Amino acid sequence: MSAQAQMRAMLDQLMGTARDGDTMRQRIKFTDDRVCKSHLLDSCPHDILSGTRMDLGECAKVHDLALRADYEIASKESEYFFELDAAEHLQSFIADCDRRTELAKKRLAETQDEISAEVAAKAERVHELNEEIGKLLAKAEQLGGEGNVDEAQQVLEKVEKTRALKKEAEDVYRNSMPASSFQQQKLRVCEVCSAYLGLHDNDRRLADHFGGKLHLGFIEIREKLDKLRKAVVEKQEKMRTRRREDREREDEKERQWEMEREREKQREWERERERERRRSRSRSADRYRYSFPVLSHFVVVFFCFVFLD
Ligand SMILES: [Zn+2]
Ligand SMILES: [Zn+2]
Repeated sequence: MSAQAQMRAMLDQLMGTARDGDTMRQRIKFTDDRVCKSHLLDSCPHDILSGTRMDLGECAKVHDLALRADYEIASKESEYFFELDAAEHLQSFIADCDRRTELAKKRLAETQDEISAEVAAKAERVHELNEEIGKLLAKAEQLGGEGNVDEAQQVLEKVEKTRALKKEAEDVYRNSMPASSFQQQKLRVCEVCSAYLGLHDNDRRLADHFGGKLHLGFIEIREKLDKLRKAVVEKQEKMRTRRREDREREDEKERQWEMEREREKQREWERERERERRRSRSRSADRYRYSFPVLSHFVVVFFCFVFLD
């Protein structure tokens, strides 16, 4: 990358697409279907395996650091749930790799004599120690490169111890089968990156494999996939909880409304009864009022009778 391109990438990462002086660039939003969601989450295999023996070339979707910066800013405010897209992308990539591993194993099984589970376990032990030696050597190289000579020396001492263990494991393994079979059983398939590994590989090859960009790239992709899956589960759980809380709030509102309606009904009933009572009181007063002239009429008639008699 040229110095200018590096500067541009740095500015993109910092400021997103909002930065000035970059009007030439095609403007799409990070939510666009054409944008690689795995790249937004810094986990696209096309980036991770770039420059390795398994370089996948350019991703079919848009990779843009400025869009990643936009997404990082926006995702603080809103939930985009891109982890699901990225997890599906990485999952299909890893599934392809695991299919290749199975195929390579099958191919090996066809060319190598079958061995018992017990012997296979002995081979596995040699393989494990090979892996450890490879990793330690890669680490020692890295430390040496960074100038940490003492630490590098300590790691190399561990390598020596592991080598001794490997020698023992190799002897145990060799003695468990005829020499001809032992010669045959020398290849294995790396479960991480599906590459063929020699059981009798020398240190240089072990370090190149276990400390190499390809193998480490696959470890990184698998770790990122695990993280994405966890994030998906967590976010789904959070969404379920939020939906449940919303539902409970709605139910509570409904219940309050229902209670208020009941109370209003009760008040209306009481008001109606009150009106009824008032009506019946005024009716009895009216009865008295209306009956008074009738009564007085009778009294007059009565006196008439008495005095006229
Ligand atoms: Zn991509
Ligand atoms: Zn590997």
